[in-house]
Amino acid sequence: MRCPAVDLSECVDCDGCLEVCPEVFRRSDAGYIEVADLEDYPQACVDEAIMMCPAHCISWEETETAP
Ligand code: SF4
Repeated sequence: MRCPAVDLSECVDCDGCLEVCPEVFRRSDAGYIEVADLEDYPQACVDEAIMMCPAHCISWEETETAP
């Protein structure tokens, strides 16, 4: 399965991903961008966030599938 990941060391806190894909990206209580824990991620919306992120710090990651 693919899951979006955010490199927080590069994130510039522009809130762009929160605007284009709020069902996936949100701000944690600590103030950082985090990815919601979903069964399935909406590809179009995550791809849009990846394209518009000014820091290019969002990417798809392959996650281990349970055996
Ligand atoms: S769009 Fe990119 S730089 Fe902006 S808040 Fe989201 S992850 Fe951070």
